Amino acid sequence: MAFQITDRCTACDACRPACPVTAVEKGSPLYAIKADVCNDCSDVLGGPRCIPVCPEAGAIIHLPKA
Ligand code: SF4
Ligand code: SF4
Repeated sequence: MAFQITDRCTACDACRPACPVTAVEKGSPLYAIKADVCNDCSDVLGGPRCIPVCPEAGAIIHLPKA
């Protein structure tokens, strides 16, 4: 897993439709990124789509690969 949604998420729903591989799932109350589906937007020009659309600083974080 390289991207994770934190407890700063306000469930605004901006990231879910922005993800090209539908890796973001609605949670209650927090959203989550499916680790087995997220491909880090490795094939998307400009990098991860979920980060720039998120209005909450720190709600989506990039984790270093273990
Ligand atoms: S990094 Fe890309 S593939 Fe992963 S959750 Fe964000 S938008 Fe989706
Ligand atoms: S865009 Fe950010 S605040 Fe909105 S649902 Fe996604 S992670 Fe949560």
